[in-house]
Amino acid sequence: MKIICIGRNYAEHVRELNHDTPEHPLFFIKPDSALLQRGQPFFYPDFSTEIDYELELVVRINRLGKNIQPKFAHKYYSEVALGIDFTARDLQREAIDKGNPWTMAKGFDDSAVVSEFVQLTDMGKDIQDLNFELRKNGSTVQQGYTGNMLFAVNDLIAYVSQYMTLKIGDFIFTGTPAGVGSIQIGDTLEGLLENRPMLSCRIK
Ligand code: MG
Repeated sequence: MKIICIGRNYAEHVRELNHDTPEHPLFFIKPDSALLQRGQPFFYPDFSTEIDYELELVVRINRLGKNIQPKFAHKYYSEVALGIDFTARDLQREAIDKGNPWTMAKGFDDSAVVSEFVQLTDMGKDIQDLNFELRKNGSTVQQGYTGNMLFAVNDLIAYVSQYMTLKIGDFIFTGTPAGVGSIQIGDTLEGLLENRPMLSCRIK
């Protein structure tokens, strides 16, 4: 399986990183070795001194598809989760400055935390009408609303599937809202979807 991650999909997050608003979705890939099993701690790696959290809504693909039209994209998923896209911001910045690929800054081991999945039908809400929140050590640090995405989930699926075949079990991290920040050893991160606790991750 592959983990497709969307960048710059919330305007306020684009502003906080001083980036330009994208004209089309931006995406990159994390390998399956980046997945952190539920409930496992995240061990702070030696190669970075600036790891950021990015809480994101995650969609699981449940049908094989290529060149999917936006109007049919809703048929390719039924469940959502929350995920944390851990980012070695120092390595990413250095790579960008040098014009190098920044795969290692995003794709390192355990950099993709994914919660349990819930059926959208059980939530009784549209995928573009979901509130989610990240708490660090009990304090809210990120609050997102999927209605504020620059590119809606169905448009993301249509766009990405022009380039890459989507397979059953692939994940799409749909971008992070404003409020990204760094983690320290000893922190605990908790993700809530519609006020429902979905994930908890200790930093060791
Ligand atoms: Mg991200």
